[in-house]
Amino acid sequence: MLTTEIQKYAERFESASPFEILSWASETFGDELAIVTSFQVTGIATLHMMQRIKPRTPVLTLDTGLLFPETHDLMNTLEARFNLDLRRIKPRQTPAQQARDYGDRLWERNPDRCCHIRKTIPLRDALAGFKAWITGLRRDQSPERAATPIISRDARNGAIKIAPFANWSEELVWQYIRERDLPYNRLHDMGYPSIGCWTCTKTARGDDAPRSGRWSQRGKTECGIHVALPSILESDIKA
Ligand code: SF4
Repeated sequence: MLTTEIQKYAERFESASPFEILSWASETFGDELAIVTSFQVTGIATLHMMQRIKPRTPVLTLDTGLLFPETHDLMNTLEARFNLDLRRIKPRQTPAQQARDYGDRLWERNPDRCCHIRKTIPLRDALAGFKAWITGLRRDQSPERAATPIISRDARNGAIKIAPFANWSEELVWQYIRERDLPYNRLHDMGYPSIGCWTCTKTARGDDAPRSGRWSQRGKTECGIHVALPSILESDIKA
């Protein structure tokens, strides 16, 4: 897809609904479209809408080996309820192998590198063969995400990236979930607004930023899937 086409669609999608954008993505990319989700609430709304568009669209989720049991429960529930084509993407190394090669609790000493090993590289490998992927990024999630385009070129993964819910608010997504009585991660009701690996996720107070519980006090706000981390050189990583 040419850059001028991407710009044209980016403008058009500003006034389109997520359902319209997802329908367009499915028609345009067919079997070469994947949904990437960590089963946050926007991902659940995405999966629900896709049931009316193309229910067996491949769903990729990064199973880092360090997810909460509640997240696995939700994955299993949604996989069964929607008959998902769910692909649990695992890192090349188990947590024990990573500890052997990089030392114990790498997420405390070098979380950028840990995310690179357990998330960024596995996603890049999993997206080979797909021309486009859907993400649940929203502009209201953090200042770093405030300018998220609805469609963009993801040069690092060689694909088009589509964020159909970029201009939805958290409140709107929760309204969508509650009106349809959709399952969601039980941890949300225990004070976790955003949920990743148990090793790097904390609760947040009601007035805290939605992603404030992620890597809190580690000077990090993104895992590296959506933005390149300057501290990471791929040549540094043992595969
Ligand atoms: S969120 Fe934490 S444990 Fe999970 S991959 Fe990133 S640094 Fe490692």
